[in-house]
This record gives sequence, C-alpha cells and structure tokens, in this order.
Amino acid sequence: MFTNKDRRIALISVDGDPAAEIGQEEAGGQNVYVRQVGLALAKLGWQVDMFARRSDPEQAGIVQHSSNCRTIRLKTGPAQFIGRDDLFEYLPEFIDQFQQFQQRQGYNYSLIHTNYWLSSWVGMELKKQQPLIQVHTYHSLGAVKYRSIRNVPLIATQRLAVEQACLETVDCVVATSPQEKKHMQLLVSRNGRIEIIPCGTDIDQFGGIQRSVARQHLGIAPDVKMVLYVGRFDRRKGIETLVRAIAESSLRGKANLQLVIGGGSRPGQSDGIERDRIANIVAQLGLKDCTTFPGRLDETILPYYYAAADVCVVPSHYEPFGLVAIEAMASRTPVVASNVGGLKFTVIPEVTGLLAPPEHESSFASAIDRILTNPAWRDRLGEAGRKRVEVAFSWNSVASGLNRLYTHLLTQTSAKSSIKSQIAA
Ligand code: UDP
Repeated sequence: MFTNKDRRIALISVDGDPAAEIGQEEAGGQNVYVRQVGLALAKLGWQVDMFARRSDPEQAGIVQHSSNCRTIRLKTGPAQFIGRDDLFEYLPEFIDQFQQFQQRQGYNYSLIHTNYWLSSWVGMELKKQQPLIQVHTYHSLGAVKYRSIRNVPLIATQRLAVEQACLETVDCVVATSPQEKKHMQLLVSRNGRIEIIPCGTDIDQFGGIQRSVARQHLGIAPDVKMVLYVGRFDRRKGIETLVRAIAESSLRGKANLQLVIGGGSRPGQSDGIERDRIANIVAQLGLKDCTTFPGRLDETILPYYYAAADVCVVPSHYEPFGLVAIEAMASRTPVVASNVGGLKFTVIPEVTGLLAPPEHESSFASAIDRILTNPAWRDRLGEAGRKRVEVAFSWNSVASGLNRLYTHLLTQTSAKSSIKSQIAA
C-alpha cells in the first residue's frame, strides 16, 4: 500500500491560476476546475499543492485556500499576462522553479495532475527527471479547436505533437465527457489510457434562489424575458451567434426581451477586442436598448443572474465540457447550447434544454423562443436540469472519481516497486 507521504499531490496548471479572478481574459473553466478539484480532494485527505505561473508582480506567491490546499505561483517569464499561445518558451523556467520548490520542501510529489497541453509538457519533462505518476486533463484539444477557428496560431504544430505524446505516455488521461474521449481516440491517438470523469459544479452555490427573489435583487422586472450568456469574451464562445439570434427572435418588439451578456475583464485587457466587436454588432442590429453588459460576475452575484434568467445560452463553436451549462442547470434554468463536445453530454435536448447547430442563428432563435413562450415547460426543463446535475455533476462526485483513480495508480506503482525490490534482494 502507498504511504501517507504519497498523499501529497501537485495539480499543475501553468496558465490557469486557481486563485485568479474568474471570467476575465483567459481565466475560465480550467481555473475553476483546478481550484474546486483541489479543494474537494483536500477534503478527502490529500495534501494538495496547486501550481500556476505568476502573472502580476503584486500577486502573493502562495495562497492558502484551506488547511491542506494552496496555490503556489512560480516565476515563469515576465510577471505579466502572457497569452497561452506565447507561453511555451517560458516553461523550462517553470520546471526549474518547481524543482527548486520541491528541494526547499524536502519532498518530491509522487503524483501530479497536469491541466491543458502546456502543463502536460511540464509533467512529461518532470517525469524524465524523477519517478512520478502523471494524470492529465486537456480542457481543450488543439485537434478539435483548430477545426473551428480561422487563424491557426504558430504554436499549433508544437501543441498537436505535445498532445499526442501526452496521450501516448502519461499514466492516465481524464476525459471530461464521452465526446472528448471519442475526439482523443479519433483525432489524437489510438494509444493511451483514458478514464471519463466529468467536470462538476457547486450544487449548494447554485439553485437556492427563486427567480422572483433574484430579479428583485438585480432590479429586473417580472415581465422581462431574460436571456443570459455567461463566460469569457473569446470568438470561440460564439456570442455573435446569440446576438444575431436575438435580433431574429419572433418576440422582438412584442415582449420585453432582455439579453444579458456577463463576463469580461477590466477595460484595456486582451479580451476587450472581442467585447468591442460584440458591442458593435449589438449596436448595428439595433439591440442596444435591450442588451446589457454587466462585466465580470463574481461568485456572490453569479447565482442571482442564473436564477433570474428564463434561459441561459451557450453558443460555443467548440466546448470540451462547458461549466456554464451545468451551473445554469443547477440553478433550474434551462440551457440552449450548441450541439458540440461536452454540451451534447450535459444538456439533454427536450429534457433539460435544447441543442442547436453552432453558428446557426435561426436555430438558436427558434430554440430560445420555444422556451420563452412556454413558462410551464421552462420550469419543467429547469427542474430536470437540477436533478441531472445533482446526480451526475457535483464536485464531490468528481473528486471521488479522481480519488479512486489516484489511489489505484499509486497502489499499482507501489506494488510494482515492491516486486522489483524483492527481485533485486
Ligand atoms: N465565470 C465567472 N464569472 C464571469 C464569467 C465566467 O465566474 O463573469 C465562470 C463561469 O461561472 C464558469 C467559468 O467561468 O465557472 C467558465 O467555464 P466554462 O467551462 O463554461 O468555459 P471556459 O472559460 O473554460 O471556456
């Protein structure tokens, strides 16, 4: 059996700081996943250290989240925001800093769980330097993402090669949906061990507020037909499709239709380009009066927005999982989503919401209208969504899946090394 010292694990997420403010620039689902998984694993008795790069000189080097869960920020290139596509060259410094941290602490982690392809490379390099078990979650697959964007970045070739090497060499890859597993096998490699463990959400944070109470809190009138988007401003998120769908809605001009587009960082940051582009489309389509941009929604206000909405729309061109969909469902709000990736797994059409082809404005318009014009059905979809999340997508169930996987991998390794030492003796 593995020992207590093996219960020290590192979650590595170079570009997705688990202690960051969520919703701005590139901080989204990956950051939430690492933080929530870390916290939940710590509750199960693991000693969890989460590693990210330092992106601001003002940031604390260590953030303690709970007694046995903390974020450690390592110097990796200049202490400023650097987009994911430009980070690869700084990774050797991250590895160096990680090694120095281990030395100072006087222990090596026996298991690391890496997140996103950049960290997978870090993990594979570390594995060459010390014995360890590597588990990996992709969060996004280049092989799928690059099919859905027009300008493929220079780093693409490197990323695709690393993603393939990762699947073929790490101890286990965690797919967050059966769709992601299929994509890996079809587009990345036939080799490799894959376990499906979905993402989760906080079922206590969402779902405890009634629609009328939430609306009162936010100052939204009871007769408003409220359509909500929550997420980062990134072209892949398909916000344009949603805006154009609202312009096509049969309710436009007839009902008190309101589009709320939540998320985004402070002015002057990189996601501002997409926000300005969306604001221009809103103006061109004459939707300024019925559209609001409340900015980044923090964890205290977010549950009110989900609860107030009649429908939450996730119009992504590609979505490996899509936390927003399950957060809305946990809040009893039906979801209209693109029928891509993990959204095909989380949203059950006609039961917890509706699916539409990505970038297909008129399909989104008619799906949204169907829900807005039938409040009784909206409520039934909402209840079914809540049940689905309770059963399948709580962080505790995610953590217990990971707990089983880590325990199995550590036990297997310690059994192998004890056989080896018996043979050597
Ligand atoms: N989010 C937030 N505030 C915002 C916008 C987004 O807290 O203003 C959170 C949202 O609740 C979700 C995450 O950011 O937990 C986005 O995750 P998702 O998987 O939907 O998308 P990603 O960012 O990974 O592409």
